[in-house]
Amino acid sequence: MELRYNTKEEIQAAHAELRRSFDSHVTLDIEFRKHQLKQLAFLLQDNVDAIADAIRKDLGRCRFETVFAEIMVTTNSVVEAHQNVASWAKNESRWAGAVWAFHDPTVRKEPKGTVLVIGAWNYPISVQIGPMISAIAAGNTAILKPSEVAAHSAKLLAELWPKYMDPRMTRVINGAVEETVQLLDLRWEHILYTGNGRVGKIVAEKAAQWLCPTTLELGGKSPVFVDDSADLKITAHRVLWAKSVNCGQTCIAPDYVICTPGVQSKLLKEFETAYNEFWPKGAKSSPDYARIVNERQFGRLNNILETTKGSIVIGGQRDANVKFMEPTILKDTPRDDIAMSDEIFGPILPIITVKDIDEGCSFVNSRDQPLALYVFGNKKVTEEIAQKTRSGGLVQGDLMLHFCVESLPFGGTGPSGYSSYHGRAGFDTFSHSRATMYAPNSGFLGWVVEKLMAPRYPPYSDGKLARLGMLAGRKLPFKRPSQIYRGAVKGKAIGRFSSTSILILFLALLYRLYGGKALAFLR
Ligand code: NAD
Repeated sequence: MELRYNTKEEIQAAHAELRRSFDSHVTLDIEFRKHQLKQLAFLLQDNVDAIADAIRKDLGRCRFETVFAEIMVTTNSVVEAHQNVASWAKNESRWAGAVWAFHDPTVRKEPKGTVLVIGAWNYPISVQIGPMISAIAAGNTAILKPSEVAAHSAKLLAELWPKYMDPRMTRVINGAVEETVQLLDLRWEHILYTGNGRVGKIVAEKAAQWLCPTTLELGGKSPVFVDDSADLKITAHRVLWAKSVNCGQTCIAPDYVICTPGVQSKLLKEFETAYNEFWPKGAKSSPDYARIVNERQFGRLNNILETTKGSIVIGGQRDANVKFMEPTILKDTPRDDIAMSDEIFGPILPIITVKDIDEGCSFVNSRDQPLALYVFGNKKVTEEIAQKTRSGGLVQGDLMLHFCVESLPFGGTGPSGYSSYHGRAGFDTFSHSRATMYAPNSGFLGWVVEKLMAPRYPPYSDGKLARLGMLAGRKLPFKRPSQIYRGAVKGKAIGRFSSTSILILFLALLYRLYGGKALAFLR
């Protein structure tokens, strides 16, 4: 299938038009944003068959997984954004003490401008349309550049997008490396990139030429700790499912298992049972099991199985002609094994054994911070592991579910990425929090505030500094261990205020509490 890439001229024109329409302020209107979100929901709902078909052609993935992991999850994101965008976008008044009450310190949530979303191939809907939901909710104009690797999905998105979405707000641009680099050389106010860390660095470097903030949604080796306090039957079912969905090509798939040798042997028996339940006639003949996306990825994974020093105890079958690779479990995997070097991103699950949790945590900490970390064990064990390690997300007793919960920020830490999206977090990522103050500058209140703040003007003097300190300086609210800081002793500090200051602060408090209504006569 030939995917048409957009020309240089088309890319430049789309970028210029979106910048112009951002400047026309059309996207500031919350109702306009909500309408675009609704259209996005209809795009998904009306085209379930076409989307499932395109993804089946790209990844050999079954309709069930596409509906569950892409359409359902992404529709939920749209609904969450549609329901909450008005409240997310509201100005937030911040209380900063009576001194600033007249100034009404406020955070205005404003769109950043024209933004770029670069997607990855493994979940062409949820990791490509997902960030667009956040960009739209926040009121930006945006270009989505789908991954050319999932070409059928990219083509479908380019066809469907103009039928549903207003071109003044969003566009889809297709292309490969050359087109992406051309996009990256343009000026953006935010770039969200999903993919591998090598390209993540290129994106961050390109963005730096404009000092453009970025969100990098990368991958990593997400470990699964299995403690002997866990129910191993449940553990095996959940881990094997998470490893085999989309043929293991999931950024938050379990990458490897860490457990003691005793747990390993019991867990392997449970894996075998789960395997036979999931695919009674083998994974190859199952209509539920996906394929590896292309020859290059198949070759990379095949090389792991050819050279690993771990023992293949479950699975291991593969067929390069149809890019089939069976869910495969390796036991007693050496720590310096090929399967333990980079993110696997396929249906291979090495198990490494450790003597205890502490050793497992040290191993995880000796490597890049993973995108997700999973713990099967009791709450105490989970807390210990949570405290001793770092990761983008953490789930106890299950896997990958945190991606589906819109009220949780989704993102990595360190080499697994930075910044986040989903729900409110996504809205904030694509918004600028504009610190705003409304200083009274006319009428009686203007006069009062002017009097209050007058000591800031030259000629400076110690007296003026003391008055400013009394007005706006904060006393240390804590004591030195062996000394008493007098200013902080309750009740004393107030004695240093003049009666005029107290009156002004009292008026400010009233103004703050009653929105100025009580003092309207002063204006
Ligand atoms: P990919 O090959 O589709 O690349 C991602 C994007 O980068 C594409 O749009 C592609 O056109 C662009 N690109 C590729 N090379 C480029 C270059 N040299 N310069 C500029 N742009 C370039 O996807 P991938 O990187 O193979 O994706 C797999 C990785 O993505 C895995 O590591 C996975 O963990 C990660 N991932 C992360 C998330 C997440 O949400 N954190 C989600 C999905 C995938």
